[in-house]
Amino acid sequence: MLDDINSMSDLDKRVQYLRRTDESAYCLFKRIYKFDSQIGRQIIPDSFQSKVLNYFGRRDALGNIIETLEEVVERIEKQKITKITNKWTGESTLFNSLRADRPGIRGADLEKEKKYVLKLIKESEEGCDFCQAEKYTPEDEFGRIIGKYSITAANIAKYDVWSSLVIFKDHNPLNFSWDEFDDYLKTSYTWFEKVYHNHPQFVFPFFVWNCMPRAGASQIHGHCQILMSKEPYAGVETLHKAYHNYKKEVGTDFFNDLYQVHYSLGLSHKNGNTRFFANITPLKEKEVIIISKNPFEDVKSKKTILKILKCFIESMGVFSFNLSISSPSLNKKEDFPHITRIVDRGSLLKSTADMGGMELYGSSVVANDPYNIINILKDVF
Ligand SMILES: [Zn+2]
Repeated sequence: MLDDINSMSDLDKRVQYLRRTDESAYCLFKRIYKFDSQIGRQIIPDSFQSKVLNYFGRRDALGNIIETLEEVVERIEKQKITKITNKWTGESTLFNSLRADRPGIRGADLEKEKKYVLKLIKESEEGCDFCQAEKYTPEDEFGRIIGKYSITAANIAKYDVWSSLVIFKDHNPLNFSWDEFDDYLKTSYTWFEKVYHNHPQFVFPFFVWNCMPRAGASQIHGHCQILMSKEPYAGVETLHKAYHNYKKEVGTDFFNDLYQVHYSLGLSHKNGNTRFFANITPLKEKEVIIISKNPFEDVKSKKTILKILKCFIESMGVFSFNLSISSPSLNKKEDFPHITRIVDRGSLLKSTADMGGMELYGSSVVANDPYNIINILKDVF
């Protein structure tokens, strides 16, 4: 019975199942989330039906439509919308699985995209400043941190007072081994500690990887952003506030409980002590949250993040992503976990942006089902 309830559009059934079988898990869900599931209705005029069949009809591998006109029209005329909000962070997402079938984004041809990405990477190599980072990038006032596979540079147009880059040795941002990934994080952490040592008022490390221009990278050459700030950045501050308010009002650890809710919904997994889940209020497509020990130092945490990232790239065909790691302050004045978030920024073959006014000013509108994401991830662990 429970195995059949395996999608966000059946979340209401899953929550009702929890209510009957696991009172404490149900209460935990209600404490953190509110959600509503409703049918949005519309009428397709006869004159538009054949176009709708062509736009939205499900197809087999050869591209033949495998649904009847009536089935497609029924699906389009009655769309199930699931709205879910995290009451503590304010994060809110609208799910409509139909949006994954919208014209133009149906089953992107992975091979075509791979070819395009490789071509883009190859072409950007010529005249790439980051391929000769020591020559063509600025350095911080204390010089550079030099790792085996990466080197730091100051950010020529700084985001903030302490805003630098970890530039990979390899131009290709999607091709990295364990040794390389390990080195990127080690180089980053050495830089965080260096800034903190020289300027002890800058205590909050923030690591951001914008991979490919669709995810906000100005250079295709592999690199990450590393920042140190006096206060957490707004997105992280929201998590800090949720964590502290929850502790004050409920008395337990917010992130433990958040994980526990995802566990009871069948949306989490563990690798040793490193816990992760497919977020039910994702900021955008396929968001995964990892709660771990310090991933800059702890090998198991780092290996889990790498495995998830590789799964995004190799199994899910995600070539544009944002990955952030927010850490507790280096002065250790507060306890706060290390939170890693990864999100897909969409196909490079698409000319439309993945985020619009809804994401900026309203709630996130998401097509990919967290149940599909966690099932793909479970297969690789
Ligand atoms: Zn390069």
